Amino acid sequence: MTLAIPHARAAVEVTASVPSVAGSRLTVPLVDGRTVQYANLDHAASAPCLDAVQDAVNELLPWYASVHRGAGYASQVSTRVYERAREVVREFVNARRTEEVIFTRNTTDALNLLARALPRFTSVIVFDTDHHAAMLPWRGPNVFRVTPTDSVERDLDEALGQTPTGPRLVVVTGAANVTGELWPVARLSAVARRHGARIVLDAAQLAPHRPVDMRALDVDYVVLSGHKLYAPFGAGALVGRADWLRAAHPYLAGGGATRQVTEHGVSWHYGPERHEAGTPNVVGAHALAVACETLGKHWDAVAAHEEALLDRLRTGLAAIPGVRQLSIFGDDSPRVGVVSFTVEGQDPGLVAAYLSAEHGIGVRDGLFCAHIATARLAGGRALRASLGLGSTAEHVDRLLTALRQGPAEEY
Ligand code: PLP
Repeated sequence: MTLAIPHARAAVEVTASVPSVAGSRLTVPLVDGRTVQYANLDHAASAPCLDAVQDAVNELLPWYASVHRGAGYASQVSTRVYERAREVVREFVNARRTEEVIFTRNTTDALNLLARALPRFTSVIVFDTDHHAAMLPWRGPNVFRVTPTDSVERDLDEALGQTPTGPRLVVVTGAANVTGELWPVARLSAVARRHGARIVLDAAQLAPHRPVDMRALDVDYVVLSGHKLYAPFGAGALVGRADWLRAAHPYLAGGGATRQVTEHGVSWHYGPERHEAGTPNVVGAHALAVACETLGKHWDAVAAHEEALLDRLRTGLAAIPGVRQLSIFGDDSPRVGVVSFTVEGQDPGLVAAYLSAEHGIGVRDGLFCAHIATARLAGGRALRASLGLGSTAEHVDRLLTALRQGPAEEY
């Protein structure tokens, strides 16, 4: 039987320009009563929805129904849409098998799920500059926090050399959420392999900017969040090797994860459903999948758009007296469109408030859920401007002009 699945028609159109973003048409009021186009420079926190995603979600909304269990047409549609989303995410990260894709709420959820599935006495190596989502889910005496130096491969090699025998997992971030710097993932996975360790890639910040190829990078697991990939909140994924996950107790106990429940006991599924108990977020999974498909067809345009704006932003910031950009590996290290900086003598919170109220610019200020990294690099809190598909040269120039002018004395 062929179902009329909403969005099954979608062969995503490839154009030389970047995919359009719904949020890029927003206007915001300024403190002086004027209204301006919103300059969203906070994509690293959450990226506004792609038009293609919004259309796909609107199309699905009248159809959603409980998956896997209903015989009705809408249930069949939802089941197909949900399982198709799994396959799309598999393809997006080039995983081997569709069954290796587990839908989660976001990256934090995905990493906590993996942490719960580790065999006993697994040694875990994390870098202390990572986002808290990557640094904190691991518990026990065998968690080793490493401070990156100018040779992260050597740092990892030394740390792994000190771990006790037994399973090992290395947690690596694809792109740092504070500085946008790209981590040498393939080189770190080569080090991990020499020690027989597994590797999980936190792609939350990398996946919106660059293709993630699990096999080329030789990583065992990838985690990502839909809301950073231009889809709405509530859907993410853990993708990777099934053995530990299959052996672990379900992340949540409940319907959908069970094969059979009798008076005598429960048997659980061995596939991704094992860790997806409860009615799943079909709309979120679909939105995530459409975002993956759309980005996957436009990588060249995405990279060109972002690199031009990043260069404009970094060069402009470097020319403003008192502005200092943060980096872990050095000013020239490759990065995605995320730049954190401080302004000498200015409180980051006040600067962020000024940028919003007087210029209609949204940036992030604070410690960016990476307290150790930000405190170390900035000596405290900082500002972060992050670019995305809806960003324009005018947004960047507006930020630079506003920073040059600076907040009024009394701000
Ligand atoms: N990892 C990185 C590098 C991030 O930038 C973020 C969010 O900012 C996360 C993990 C956590 O993502 P989420 O809040 O979607 O779980």
